[in-house]
Amino acid sequence: MTTTTTVWVLGDQLNRALGALRDADPSTHRVLLVESAAKLASRRWHVQRAHFVITAMRRFAGELRDAGYEVDHRRAPTLRDGWRAHVEEFSPVEVVATEPASWDGLALLRSLDVTLVRSNQFLCHYEDFAGWADGRTNLKMEDFYRWQRRRLGYLMEPGIEPDDRSGSDAQPVTGRWNYDDENRQRPPKTGNPWPSPQTSRLDDLDREVLADLPDDCWGAEPDGTWATTRRAALARLRNFVDDVLPMFGPHEDAMVERSWHLAHSVLSPYMNIGLLLPGEVCDAVQQAYDEGHVDIASAEGFIRQVIGWREYVWGVYWLWMPDYRSRNALAADRPVPPVFRGEAATDMNCVHHCMSTLHDHAYNHHIQRLMVLGNLAMLHGVDPWAMTDWMWSSFVDGAEWVMLPNVIGMSQWADGGMMATKPYAAGGNYIDTMSDYCAGCRYDRKQRVGEDACPFTTLYWDFLARHHDRLVGNPRVARQVRASERLSDLPAVRERAVEVRAMLGDGTL
Ligand SMILES: Cc1cc2nc3c(=O)[nH]c(=O)nc-3n(C[C@H](O)[C@H](O)[C@H](O)COP(=O)(O)OP(=O)(O)OC[C@H]3O[C@@H](n4cnc5c(N)ncnc54)[C@H](O)[C@@H]3O)c2cc1C
Ligand code: SF4
Repeated sequence: MTTTTTVWVLGDQLNRALGALRDADPSTHRVLLVESAAKLASRRWHVQRAHFVITAMRRFAGELRDAGYEVDHRRAPTLRDGWRAHVEEFSPVEVVATEPASWDGLALLRSLDVTLVRSNQFLCHYEDFAGWADGRTNLKMEDFYRWQRRRLGYLMEPGIEPDDRSGSDAQPVTGRWNYDDENRQRPPKTGNPWPSPQTSRLDDLDREVLADLPDDCWGAEPDGTWATTRRAALARLRNFVDDVLPMFGPHEDAMVERSWHLAHSVLSPYMNIGLLLPGEVCDAVQQAYDEGHVDIASAEGFIRQVIGWREYVWGVYWLWMPDYRSRNALAADRPVPPVFRGEAATDMNCVHHCMSTLHDHAYNHHIQRLMVLGNLAMLHGVDPWAMTDWMWSSFVDGAEWVMLPNVIGMSQWADGGMMATKPYAAGGNYIDTMSDYCAGCRYDRKQRVGEDACPFTTLYWDFLARHHDRLVGNPRVARQVRASERLSDLPAVRERAVEVRAMLGDGTL
């Protein structure tokens, strides 16, 4: 064999079209995959998260072998140890790798003798994002999204050649960029039209991986919801586009007890580890729109999430690291409450539902993450890094690049407004409007004092009062801060908030 070069594939780069692997050939390249024991031991993972990544890595190694590659899939104490042992055993002329998706990963590979190949895992490389951001005082997601739409050509007027699409004249099909107004409907009172996600049958490899996982993993064992091969992930994509996408838009922000997924795609885990690429996901949506299978509000709503939010989050992560992860503008310092760690039950029906979904599927949809779990953590005053760390270990699609902006920026407002112009803080009224949780809850969303008061409502008013000086000058939230000043029962609310936070802290709420 004339193999001389090693392609080191990281656990979130499982796709043959990516970076260093794209131009590799079995006759000249060997592949290295390292399962790091330190990574596995670094957090108390949800079992479905740990199983998903390790199984997908092992299956990918098998696919590469089937394609003729010699694969060195090794377990090692750390990634560095795995690389070192590989180099000692095989003496490759060169080790190449696709740019990693994390700051620390990039630093590690740069410190080793590894040649990095530019990543094509996102539609906008972070250097291009930095170019877009350069000179702007305000990094509005909407501006970035329109720039992406023009550049990439999704849902744009036909007849404009791709090269012209970044020009300012390019217009969206239908003339409108944004369908958020149509896509924020309250949940329907009855009915469950949202098809269940496909599942795969577990096999011996799944069981082998489960046996290898640390004992302290938590959550329900995998039930086949999360696909661990590209082939199965592509089938999930097809299924989503054909059967679910037409319903995606209207209830994007709704939460109901009777469905853990509604019309969400549940595709994020696959995009985040490379089993699917964002371009092919958006192409499938564009095609469904072109064929008249999906209306513009749902197609636009979905494309916005992927080429807008997802790529924006990726771009700001690289722009603002490394100090971004230590931001704590609201000086929040409490630990993650026991109810999130699965160590306590709760009477808060919304939290109970989100937590049982998380336990069963290692997943919550966006509005549950932002407006229930994230909101409660911010109102309580949880340390933003502790919250990031907890979410990272709990969600099947977790990764630092996506967690940091979403948690530190969006949900905890720990960056003081770099990402979101105002904190996503809300009381029980918001949750009641967007869900069916409150009707079955022992707390009363309208009350802010007393034993029956909704903890969200109490903590919301307390939060506005607690951060009065910081928030009163913010035009997007000043009205609510002023309203908190005028509450006749504010002292009682603040007293109740102390009790609520104590109960949340000791797991008795
Ligand atoms: C506090 C918090 C934590 C989050 N943690 C993660 C995480 O660990 N991993 C993760 O992939 N997403 C995370 N998100 C973003 C978003 O909630 C998930 O991407 C989404 O819920 C995944 O489910 P889905 O595939 O069914 O999404 P859909 O509703 O079907 O959306 C389609 C796709 O859009 C992308 N997307 C939408 N919003 C975002 C966003 N804000 N950031 C990045 N991508 C987005 C995802 O790739 C998603 O698959 C988080 C959001 C918040 C507020
Ligand atoms: S009343 Fe409050 S705690 Fe209960 S479900 Fe509604 S928002 Fe959640």
